[in-house]
Amino acid sequence: MANIIITGCSSGIGFATAVMLAKNKHVVFATMRHPSQHQELQDIADNKNLPIIILPLDVTKDNSIKNAISQVLFYTDKIDVLVNNAGIGTLGSIEELPIEDFIEQMDTNFIGTVRCTKAVLPHMRKKKGGCIINISSVGGKLFNYFNAPYSASKAAVEAFSECLAMEVRPFGIRVAVVEPGVIDTPLQDKCKSRIGETSYPNLERSIAFFSAARDHHVPPEVVAETILQIVNGESATFRNPTGPDSKPLLGFRASMSDEDWIAGADIDDQTWISMMEGMQLDVRKYLTRL
Ligand code: NAP
Repeated sequence: MANIIITGCSSGIGFATAVMLAKNKHVVFATMRHPSQHQELQDIADNKNLPIIILPLDVTKDNSIKNAISQVLFYTDKIDVLVNNAGIGTLGSIEELPIEDFIEQMDTNFIGTVRCTKAVLPHMRKKKGGCIINISSVGGKLFNYFNAPYSASKAAVEAFSECLAMEVRPFGIRVAVVEPGVIDTPLQDKCKSRIGETSYPNLERSIAFFSAARDHHVPPEVVAETILQIVNGESATFRNPTGPDSKPLLGFRASMSDEDWIAGADIDDQTWISMMEGMQLDVRKYLTRL
């Protein structure tokens, strides 16, 4: 039984992970920005008698993190696991996205991870053990057009995690990275709402790719299962690609040179559609310009 803090539990992967870990007898401190607006997790915890304690935590606010950790340490004297899950997404061209979107993306996905990690490290180091699980993304290693703020933030999480793993290893603290492919959560709906008029026609391809991939309806429980295996010590790998499209997408990128990858921006719609259909992605219905 481990005491586990998870960020971003109001929906999606955080929500599913909180439920799965609690069902597997772990004590979960499920944190979210606005607990009063999200009653569902509390209801499940009550109805199924699950060890879930919901606490407010905004990863962009130092005081909020400090208060949450103090409250966790009021319930228990040991934090075994931190899951840095909270995240946002943005799709758009570098030229057209406001600088605020880049700042918010980095502040939430990357600096939020750094803040929460720094908040638990003194505790884990003194206890000589612990585990920090950072939710990255295939997008943290595969860099595609119109995904710059998100990919940059997740690439930063990847680099940070590897440095962290080496620094804390002497203290018995383990670090693992989870790299989901496209998972069916509210994340993409929140992304799309930011897209307005554009001078970049190929932005449609990015939206079509994510929409078609989401049609495969890979549930967030798939990621929760990977996190459970890491927590239970059943997976000892540092990087954990997760979901049916994760390894194929990373393999596809690794199979070509950087120059060929970038030149992929030149291919015509028909060739691009055929390539996507080769990956079982029915993008045609999402390309309005056809
Ligand atoms: P989601 O359902 O939108 O969940 C994101 C969670 O992060 C929500 O609980 C959201 O809370 C929370 N959050 C956002 N900003 C926050 C902040 N400042 N402080 C605290 N919490 C904050 O999306 P998801 O797909 O489950 O995403 C979870 C993680 O998986 C993210 O790191 C994401 O990048 C990663 N991921 C997702 C996919 C995918 O295809 N879905 C693929 C790869 C990686 P609010 O309700 O308050 O907004």
